[in-house]
Amino acid sequence: MKFKLFSSCLLSASLLFGSTVLAAATPDYGALIEQAHQKYKDNNEGKVADYIPALATYSPKNFAIAIATVDGKIYQTGDASAAFPMESLSKVFTMALVMEQSGSEEVLNKLGANATGMAFNSGLAVELTKGAPENPLVNAGAMSAVSLVKAKDKDERWKLIMDNLNAYANDTLTVNEPVFKSEMETNQHNQALADLMESYNSFYSDTREAVEIYTRQCSVDVNTVQLVRMAAVLANNGKSPYSGKQLLSEKYVPQVLAEMAIAGLYDGSGKWLYLVGIPAKSGVGGGMIAVVPGEYAIAVYSPPLDNAGNSVRAQQTIQFIAEATKANQFYGNNK
Ligand code: GLN
Repeated sequence: MKFKLFSSCLLSASLLFGSTVLAAATPDYGALIEQAHQKYKDNNEGKVADYIPALATYSPKNFAIAIATVDGKIYQTGDASAAFPMESLSKVFTMALVMEQSGSEEVLNKLGANATGMAFNSGLAVELTKGAPENPLVNAGAMSAVSLVKAKDKDERWKLIMDNLNAYANDTLTVNEPVFKSEMETNQHNQALADLMESYNSFYSDTREAVEIYTRQCSVDVNTVQLVRMAAVLANNGKSPYSGKQLLSEKYVPQVLAEMAIAGLYDGSGKWLYLVGIPAKSGVGGGMIAVVPGEYAIAVYSPPLDNAGNSVRAQQTIQFIAEATKANQFYGNNK
């Protein structure tokens, strides 16, 4: 099966000084994403998020896949131009911004790098550690990350976060106002988490302001192509393959990817790492990214979620492609 997936690519033999040299096989990414789309498009497992009422309006049939290789090529299938809210995918990039501004020690000390083993918005997780940092990818840590962004006021904090998202996407993203409004009307739980964090001195700016900015960053719309461009920066050692700008210092990329491996899929993260072995991040809008360092990034959009809040088809698709390309990071060099 694996051989078949590679068969349309190369395995071109060339003669070099009398000995036969096999070129390294480059996966046929275009064929792989078509196969995955075909294979999973009729799988209707999972449920579209409705705890944020505006998210319930998205069709469970939406399904798009994109792969970006570090040399800047993009392969896409399905409606890869359909926009959806980033939700928790935004947490990765704001964490990266905090790291770039204040260093990885600060992220480790103030936001942590431990799995909670609990739901992404668990208050119990905060209570159990008395607000000690867990990680910047669960809601409590992500809101605390927003509060850590160095800015003189609320407007500048938001501008820095939005400019950062735009730079990764190499595009101008916009806030989905109906989603923002809907989430602001129903985010009492997040407000409570922020207050709880503050009661343990684990919050670093005004809580209401930070919760609002966090909610706004979650409401930023992306499409699957913009999203894969964002992830490609992480695959390419922190440098955008599109603008050529170093958006994240190379030395911090392993820490960002480690946080994704630890908590990118919340309480589904351990199983994901065991089965697939590449850092990934999901959002309740149905988006998901995964990064194969030095090779490629993948983004998938499909709204129906599993119980942990991770897109079902996105996980299946990424697992399929990761296996076909032997992307598991725990293989040795001679995979
Ligand atoms: N904005 C959402 C929330 O705070 C993000 C959650 C997610 O995508 N897992 O609940």
